[in-house]
Amino acid sequence: LSADVLERRVSTFAEVQEHYYTEPPEIERGWREHLIDVHAQCYLDLVNNVALTGHAHPRLVKAVSNQWSLLNTNSRFNYSALPRFTERLVALAPEGLDTVFLVNSGSEAVDLALRLAKTYTGNDAVLAFQEAYHGWTVGADAVSSSIGDNPRALETRPDWVHVIDAPHPFRGTHRGADSAARYLDDLEARLGVLDDAGTGLAAFIGEPVFGNAGGVLLPDGYLAGVFEKVRSRGGLTISDEVQVGYGRLGEYFWGVEQQGVTPDIITIAKGMGNGQPVGAVITRRDIAEKFAEEGSLFSSAGGSPVSCVVGLTVLDILRDEGLQENARTVGGDLKAKLLTLQGRHDIIGAVHGLGLYLGVELVRDLATLEPASVAASEICEELLREGCIVQPTGDYKNVLKIKPPLNITTESVDFFVEALDRVLCARSR
Ligand code: PMP
Repeated sequence: LSADVLERRVSTFAEVQEHYYTEPPEIERGWREHLIDVHAQCYLDLVNNVALTGHAHPRLVKAVSNQWSLLNTNSRFNYSALPRFTERLVALAPEGLDTVFLVNSGSEAVDLALRLAKTYTGNDAVLAFQEAYHGWTVGADAVSSSIGDNPRALETRPDWVHVIDAPHPFRGTHRGADSAARYLDDLEARLGVLDDAGTGLAAFIGEPVFGNAGGVLLPDGYLAGVFEKVRSRGGLTISDEVQVGYGRLGEYFWGVEQQGVTPDIITIAKGMGNGQPVGAVITRRDIAEKFAEEGSLFSSAGGSPVSCVVGLTVLDILRDEGLQENARTVGGDLKAKLLTLQGRHDIIGAVHGLGLYLGVELVRDLATLEPASVAASEICEELLREGCIVQPTGDYKNVLKIKPPLNITTESVDFFVEALDRVLCARSR
């Protein structure tokens, strides 16, 4: 049955939209942090960072179906769910970010953020991290240069995109205590070249905890330095919080808090709708007003009553079930257990991340740090047989990224750690 569904999928669904695994299970149901296939086999979902409050949350199901049966329309109409949602977002946003645009996805949010920055500054150039992923629409794709997703990414960036070295503490150009300062020196040199050429900056865009590289924490003080340099040249700062924001980091609601900075623009999507397409750009009023001078913006479904009710209900569940706190405690416990595994298995070069946003970086050799890319994909296949769904990320696809629903339990975490231990032991035999 599963093979038949897969064959039919491949024959009409464009192949570039890849599926996980060579022989993927045919899944039928979701429940909390679990996925259940057509043969009633249960899997632990450690990959789906969209299902923030877990799969099929009864409160969300009820709220969405109620709203669907009552009203769904577009944001040109006047209904209370819209300001209730934007007020909640502003209340949660970093100081000074008081205006919200509602869209349907992370890619749309990133594209809009880039347009806002270009309009506000009158400049075109954008700085973005190498190895980043910000989405698939034209603008978002332009600032995404991970060679793990597109081997030719670095050769094919448009002229307005300036790819900068990401400050990776484990395998980056600079490591150690002074790495932030050294990366900032490199950046200053790059910006000097742009200054000399008379190239004005529109923005810097980056993930404040580097998600696409596997939940890598940036060195202390690094983003503060970047923001200062970008702002001194008239550019805006965009924090892409699509993956890391909204409580997943446990200790912090937004990723930028971990670096102690406030951006000019935040992009957010994924978990904020728990699977329903909901995305947002949160920014300052003056930036939104400048954009309004150039024309209007309309998204047919962005900010619809259903989207707003979903967004509000997700926030209610996060608050009422203490899910950010769960991300902190259960995520902290998981990281500690993964660090213990690192002591037992040489293939684990590092454990990155915070809260329920972790990365297990696999290397072939602890001295050279050569990425264990083939092993990473094999380990993911082996973990599937153990009932755990995990996928590799990054330029070398050698980091197992762990980003489960925020209501994952300690029992599920232990199930995964034991499975990973078994898989790694079996490989070293
Ligand atoms: N930004 C980041 C950091 C992302 O991880 C993603 C999606 N993986 C996007 C933007 C794009 O989001 P979407 O798939 O909702 O368009």
